[in-house]
Amino acid sequence: MRSLLLHTLAWALLVSAETQFPAHKIAGNLFYVGSVEYAAYLVATPQGHILINSSFEESVPLIEQSVAKLGFRFKDVKILLTSHAHADHIAGCAAVKQSTGAKVMIMRGDEDIVASGGQGDFQYEDSRFKPCAVDRVLEDGDTVTLGGATLTAVLTAGHTRGCTTWTMTATEDGKKLLAVIIGSPNVNPGYKLVGNDKYRAIAGDFQKTFHKLKSLRADLFLGAHGQYYGLEEKYPRLGGGPNPFVDPAGYQAYVSAKEKEFLGKLEAQKQGQ
Ligand SMILES: [Zn+2]
Repeated sequence: MRSLLLHTLAWALLVSAETQFPAHKIAGNLFYVGSVEYAAYLVATPQGHILINSSFEESVPLIEQSVAKLGFRFKDVKILLTSHAHADHIAGCAAVKQSTGAKVMIMRGDEDIVASGGQGDFQYEDSRFKPCAVDRVLEDGDTVTLGGATLTAVLTAGHTRGCTTWTMTATEDGKKLLAVIIGSPNVNPGYKLVGNDKYRAIAGDFQKTFHKLKSLRADLFLGAHGQYYGLEEKYPRLGGGPNPFVDPAGYQAYVSAKEKEFLGKLEAQKQGQ
């Protein structure tokens, strides 16, 4: 009982700590509609919009406000995608689907967690949220298109089985910029990279993920949390010179640092530390 109470308290603190972040254009038809803590992106098209990440159920009204501030209608969201099936990115999927009728598209490996409301997570067995029907299960390299926009789903597994890095081309001042929204390169506290009976391929999946991430020639460096790419530091520089989100060197440095972190944790676990 006590642990349940503590768990509920921790959850309430987590949710109440969420802070609205100014909605803004990143480049072309790609916009930021997330909070300080949880990133969400809108790809706006004449035929409706694509939303990446619902965040928590409690976050959905914040996202809706951000979409409205940009002059778009939340009800015009036709497709809902996600970075990966952890509650802070998908617990609000059911709420988004209910209010917009959006089609929910999830990478294979994460689809059952979204559809069951959290069951089957290899690490967070107690995670529960409103189940959300999945309309399309994506495979590595699949594309999602709407109103002239095309997004590519790159499987970057390890953090979750279906962790997805989204890429798209945003056109700004006639220049085509490759946007890369990193799904997550993180080995969370408690993740077993060695001898993980619930996710045997975890270490190999992380290795493949770093290989793929390094091979992407990102112009716009983005991710499932603004913290990955320095959102709070970059945002104030928007509009006063070069686009701060165009940061190919920052992207490569981040991926390399995360790979190093992964390899360090893998080595430590192999040594039994
Ligand atoms: Zn996560």
